[in-house]
Amino acid sequence: MGSERSPSLCRPTLPVPRDLCDQCRMCCRFTDPDRSPWVSRTGDLTDFPESFSAARPLRLLPLPEAPADPPVWRCSALGSDGLGCDIWGEHPADCRLYPLLVVFREGSFRMVLDPDCPFSSRESPSFFRRHADGFLSEEWVRMTPEGLRAIRPFAEREDRPHFQEVLVLPHPVAPRRGSALP
Ligand code: SF4
Ligand code: SF4
Repeated sequence: MGSERSPSLCRPTLPVPRDLCDQCRMCCRFTDPDRSPWVSRTGDLTDFPESFSAARPLRLLPLPEAPADPPVWRCSALGSDGLGCDIWGEHPADCRLYPLLVVFREGSFRMVLDPDCPFSSRESPSFFRRHADGFLSEEWVRMTPEGLRAIRPFAEREDRPHFQEVLVLPHPVAPRRGSALP
């Protein structure tokens, strides 16, 4: 984290309508910190891939209007009106792609769809497949071996049985950091 973003990096983002999120408000608030954006979690994130990093460090803050038991957290980039992201366009891949997620299931990284998001039933399977393909070709192919190792523990914890498989992500071939390009 902290490195400058590549200016050529295309950043696929799912067009979830703002009015739908306004009614739902499920995102960006967390009772389980393990389900917050990967970059706001603790741990050694030195090798975290650029796609999954944010334009600025993210933290979880207590949500004052929520009951304290169980505690509810909000992302530090959530707008003051409780809706909208202050770093929109530069938010991490796990936010930009939701309700698509990257999980590690049965020995492979996969893109899955979370049916709990109301947007997941508004579009066709081919719509989500197209966006998963876009992530694969624009971002996943740049993943380094270090990046894969860094996200795997998070991707394993992210998986839920009801998530619907959209795409198996092939092992990317990006060179190791510091190695000479062909
Ligand atoms: S779950 Fe879906 S509709 Fe609800 S806030 Fe998140 S992205 Fe928007
Ligand atoms: S980075 Fe933006 S979209 Fe992602 S959890 Fe935070 S406020 Fe929400």
